[in-house]
Amino acid sequence: MSYLVFARKYRPQNFDEVVQQEHVTRTLKNAISAGRVPHALLFTGPRGTGKTTVARIFAKAMNCAQGPTPTPCNACRSCDEITNGHAADVFEIDGASNNSVDQVRELRENLKYMPAHSRHKIYIIDEVHMLSLAAFNALLKTLEEPPAHVLFVFATTDPHKIPVTILSRCQRHDLRRIDLSAISDQMRRICDQESVVIDDAGLTMIAREAGGSMRDALSLLDHVFACAEGPIKTDLIAELLGSAERRQLFELSAAVFARDIAQVLAMIDTVWRRGLEMKRFYCDLLSHFQSMAIIKLGDKAVRLVDLPAHEIKQMQSQVRDVSDGFLTQALDLLFQIEPSIKWSAQPKLALEMVFLKLFQSPPALSVENLIKGLDQLRSVAHPAERTSSQEMGPRESPPSSQEQEDQSLSRQTAPTEPARADARPSCVAAPLGAPLWDCVVRHVIADKPPLGAFLNKCRASFPEETRLELEVCGNDFTFKNVQKNADYLEKICADLSGKPIKIVLTANCEDTGGKRKEKMKTERLKQKALTDPLVMEAVELFRGKVVDIKVI
Ligand SMILES: [Zn+2]
Repeated sequence: MSYLVFARKYRPQNFDEVVQQEHVTRTLKNAISAGRVPHALLFTGPRGTGKTTVARIFAKAMNCAQGPTPTPCNACRSCDEITNGHAADVFEIDGASNNSVDQVRELRENLKYMPAHSRHKIYIIDEVHMLSLAAFNALLKTLEEPPAHVLFVFATTDPHKIPVTILSRCQRHDLRRIDLSAISDQMRRICDQESVVIDDAGLTMIAREAGGSMRDALSLLDHVFACAEGPIKTDLIAELLGSAERRQLFELSAAVFARDIAQVLAMIDTVWRRGLEMKRFYCDLLSHFQSMAIIKLGDKAVRLVDLPAHEIKQMQSQVRDVSDGFLTQALDLLFQIEPSIKWSAQPKLALEMVFLKLFQSPPALSVENLIKGLDQLRSVAHPAERTSSQEMGPRESPPSSQEQEDQSLSRQTAPTEPARADARPSCVAAPLGAPLWDCVVRHVIADKPPLGAFLNKCRASFPEETRLELEVCGNDFTFKNVQKNADYLEKICADLSGKPIKIVLTANCEDTGGKRKEKMKTERLKQKALTDPLVMEAVELFRGKVVDIKVI
C-alpha cells in the first residue's frame, strides 16, 4: 500500500474522534438522533480545523446502512466508499474550480435523479465562497426547496463572502482554531502509534507553528519524521521549521530584563549567524513579549496565553520584577519596527536598534505612578476637601474648638501631611532671588497683612548675597511704611536664608501709568506661579521642568 500522509491516515472517522469541536459534533449528533437534520449545512472556520472531515462524517452518518445514526459503522458499503473517497452518492465539489453558473445548473439538473444505492445524495461544496454571484443565485431556488433525498454541506474559511440569501438558508456551524495543547496531544498519540520518540518541547514547537490548524501540524510532523533518524531532537525541529528555539527566546528576554545590552546583541548575532530568517525570528520574539505582557496582567489573563504550563511558569518568574512600563515599552518598540523588518535590507540592524533604543530611553512612568502623583497633588491643592471626606458620617454635635485645634495641629505637625497652601510657608534656607523674596512676602502677608500689601508693590533684587535692593513703587505713604519695617524685614530675610541681609530701599514714585503697572503685575504673577508649592510638587513628582508661563 502506498504511503499515506498523517493528515489522511489519522483523519477522524466518527464524530467522537474530531478534536476540540464538540460544540459542532454534539449538535449534529443530537440533530441526527432526533431526525431533525437541516437540508443545508454550512461549516466555517480557519483552515485545517476539520470542516471537510466533519462534513464527511456527517455524510457517513446520514447514509450508513445502520443509520441515519450519530455513530456510523464505518464497515458498510456506504461508509467504506466515503472513507476511500469514491462514494457514488456523495459528491465533493471544489467551489474554487467549479464556480460558474453553468456548473451549478448542471448540478441542479442532476439533483432530480435518485441516489444510486444510499439514502441521500449529499453534495459537499468546499470553499463555497469562491462561487460566482450568478452561481449563488442559480443555487438559491434549489436551496430553498431541495428534493427530499438531497443534502447540501458547504465549507468555507470566509463566510462573510457568501451572500446573505444563501447564509439564511443554511444551518451554520463555526469550527474553532484548535488549542496548542490539543494539537500536541493528538500528535503525541500519533507518535506513540508510529513508535517514534520525540520530546514534548518539540511537539509544542510544531503545534505552535501550525497556528491552530491540525492539518498543518500533521503535515509538519510528516516532514520531521521524514528527516529524522532515531529519536527526534528539539534542535532538529527548530532547524527544520526555521524557528528560534524557545530556550533562545527566554534567554534573550532574560538579558533584556537584566538590561544587559551586550548579551542581547550577542544573542541576535548568534541567531543571524545560524542563518535563521530575521523576519521569522522577529515574529517569534514579538509573540514571546506579547505573551509576557499578557501574563504580567495577572492570573486571570493567563488563560489567554496558549502556551504549555512550564513556559507560562517560566514567563511568570521572568516578569515578576519587571515594571509594566518597561515591558510595554519593549513591546511597543518591537511592534513599531514591523515595516522595517519586512522591507529593510538590514533586518538585523533594525532589531538591534530596538534594544539600543529601549536601553537608552528613560524608563516611562507607569500609569499607576502617574495616578498616585495626581492624587498626591490633589491632596496638596485641596487638603480641606480630603479632610472633610475622611470625616464623613453623622455627627451628633459640632466639633469642639479643642477638637478643631487638635486637627489643625495634627495637620501641621504630621510628617506625611502636606502643608496647607495658605499656611505660613516653611521655606527654611530658601535660595536667594525670587524664591526667597516670595517667601518673605508670604510670611509678611500671614503676619502683617497691610505691610504685605505694600511689599506686593515692591521690586526686589539681590546685587550681592547679603544685600537686598527694594524698589518701593507707590506714594510716599507706602515708602514710609516699608521703611518703618525695614528691621523687621531684615530679620525675616535672615531667618529664611540663614544669612544676615542688608535691605536698601529706593523710592519709585514716578509711576508712568498702566503699562508699567501691568508689566510688574505680570512679572509678579509669573514668579508666584514658579514658586507655588503645587507647581513645585508637580515638577518634582513628574520629573519635569517649567518651560513657559502664560498669564491668562
Ligand atoms: Zn456504515
